[in-house]
Amino acid sequence: MHRVLGSVLISSEQIQRRNAELGRQISADYAGGAVTIVAILKGSFLFLADMIRQISPEIPVEVDFMAVSSYGNGTTSTGTVRIEKDLEVTVAGRDIIVVEDIVDTGLTLYQVDRILAGRGARTIRVATLLEKPGNSKYERKIDYVGFQIPNAFVVGYGLDYAQRYRNLPDIRVLDEI
Ligand code: 5GP
Repeated sequence: MHRVLGSVLISSEQIQRRNAELGRQISADYAGGAVTIVAILKGSFLFLADMIRQISPEIPVEVDFMAVSSYGNGTTSTGTVRIEKDLEVTVAGRDIIVVEDIVDTGLTLYQVDRILAGRGARTIRVATLLEKPGNSKYERKIDYVGFQIPNAFVVGYGLDYAQRYRNLPDIRVLDEI
């Protein structure tokens, strides 16, 4: 089996338009408050960078990173999550937005949620660039969804296949041939 880049599913223009909408929504929701963003590495880094620049400068925004692994170099979930890099910011008492690249089975999110709740986060919301609807095994509201996509393996705009394709400006399907 061989994997090759397929068609563009979501263009960079569509992504930037949606980032602006999400930024406005977050700015409205957190007006008068502050927010601590917990970005899940590595796939979320471009979404994070573009989306947080759309949040109102009036709102104090903290950013930190967590790396967890559940996929290895393959394209199917192994069902476990390991913390590879932990946060440096204080979680207790904070209003958190977890920023994800994609929610598929929801396992990563479920584990991160548990960790942050265990550390005493005041509120935890979730922003994800992509969601594969119907795949999640967990009942978890996702507060900010960039795009719902069909059940295909996608790359680009931060998302990789075996560490490749993160630099693509748009989201593409990875085809099997
Ligand atoms: P979950 O734990 O929700 O099953 O999967 C979340 C993680 O799996 C994502 O953060 C991402 O790293 C990886 N993942 C799931 N679906 C895809 C996909 O279509 N493309 C890529 N590149 N990664 C995916």
